[in-house]
Amino acid sequence: MARSSIIQRWVRGSLLIMVLVLVAAEAIFLYTSYRDLYGGVQRAIESRFSTIAGRLQATGTAGDSLETSESRGQALRRTVEQFDEKDKFEFMLLDARGVVLSTSSGTMSQELSNGADFVEALTSADGEGRAIFTTGQGERVMAVTTLVPYAAGNIAAMRMVTSLTQVDRQWSRYLMASVGIGALAFLLMLWSGLFFVRSIVRPLGEVEATATRIARGDLATRLPDTKYNDEIGRLCRTINQMAEDLAETDRLKNEFISSVSHELRTPLTSIKGWVETIKTINDPDDENYRRGLAVIGTETDRLYTMVEELLDFSRLQNGIQMQCQVLDLVAEATDAALFVEARIRQEGLSLVYEEPPDPYPVWADPARLRQVFVNLFDNAIKYSSPGGAIFLTLTRTADTVTAAVRDQGCGIAPEDLDKVKQKFFKARNAVRGSGIGLAVVDEIVRALGGQVDITSALGQGTTVSVTLPVYHPGQEHLHETI
Ligand code: ADP
Repeated sequence: MARSSIIQRWVRGSLLIMVLVLVAAEAIFLYTSYRDLYGGVQRAIESRFSTIAGRLQATGTAGDSLETSESRGQALRRTVEQFDEKDKFEFMLLDARGVVLSTSSGTMSQELSNGADFVEALTSADGEGRAIFTTGQGERVMAVTTLVPYAAGNIAAMRMVTSLTQVDRQWSRYLMASVGIGALAFLLMLWSGLFFVRSIVRPLGEVEATATRIARGDLATRLPDTKYNDEIGRLCRTINQMAEDLAETDRLKNEFISSVSHELRTPLTSIKGWVETIKTINDPDDENYRRGLAVIGTETDRLYTMVEELLDFSRLQNGIQMQCQVLDLVAEATDAALFVEARIRQEGLSLVYEEPPDPYPVWADPARLRQVFVNLFDNAIKYSSPGGAIFLTLTRTADTVTAAVRDQGCGIAPEDLDKVKQKFFKARNAVRGSGIGLAVVDEIVRALGGQVDITSALGQGTTVSVTLPVYHPGQEHLHETI
């Protein structure tokens, strides 16, 4: 369908116009050639008439007396008899009724005229008439008649008739050449146009077929490497990239489902085990009874946190309203540090944080900002070994404020560093988690107009920096939803 429609559009929008221009150019060429050829014949006759008229004027300058008139008539007759271009023109003298009085060939046949030229000469302002017609012998001729400007006896007009055979032949050569050139130009336009349109339509057809296969779920399909380095080539590469990204997302999604199921099953197994154990204990003061309840409590918290994280993530994906306000990043970071400090100590780690004395104003949603800190601390704790330290550092420039969480943990492999912000991605060092913590951080921070930078060295630790713009009045309308 696409093929026919693009070709149709090309025919309508381009070829038709080019053909019209070509036809117009041919018409103008043919019209001017016609005028030049046949006008040339007429001009040749006219120049002979004016030579004869000039000679006639010199005859008997004494005025229009009867004598002068007669001598002009005789002079004209002599001119006709001695006309030396008899082979090209038939020269005639006509009386006032158009009757032939004398001819250069001597034959007094009236056949060489249809009379139209004489009638036109009588009626036209310049006293000249022209007629093109076919004689009784089937020869096309041109007759030009002009009224004699001076009284010349009974001679009223001069007529010259010439054959158009040569000119007609020339004209038909022009006609054939121009039609031939026109047809050739049309074929060339058609060929080059079709070649060009096909060079677009064919790869587009392939793109369409491949995109359809991808849409049906065949994510392994790819477009062949195209030789074009233009929009088509770029489109093919984009489609291939899209298929690759889709396949990667699909793979990550499957991994995500299996890791989330695993994450959910571990606490559930523990809870189920302890429930079974508690069922057999009748004494609420029993050591195991209380330990069991404590474990069930912790595991339930873990499940709750995980489900919350998943819900948050799905809400973020669907776009949620942000309740932004002017916040002090220092106060928010201090709150988050106090919130996680106990857990950090519990894991055998220490927190190093120096609270800056001045407030760092930002325009943000406090709950989302807290989530950012919680996720960063959670990762720092998860990937650190006991004895290590976690550093929270706040810095600011004229336009930005940055909160960096650094740990001395296992670090991220360089090849994974670019991908850890992708949703569902878990690097090879991953212990537990769903691979969405950093994706959520990145999404929130970008929605607040900031950015997340991660630097890491394997075995030495990781630094995740969150940079936000400093609040300035007028920023309120920004980042209301993500
Ligand atoms: P998760 O919820 O699984 O922790 P994240 O999106 O938070 O997922 O992190 C993605 C991956 O990045 C993790 O699986 C882990 O491999 C790596 N990662 C994140 N933070 C750290 C860190 N502080 N140290 C080492 N690796 C980290």
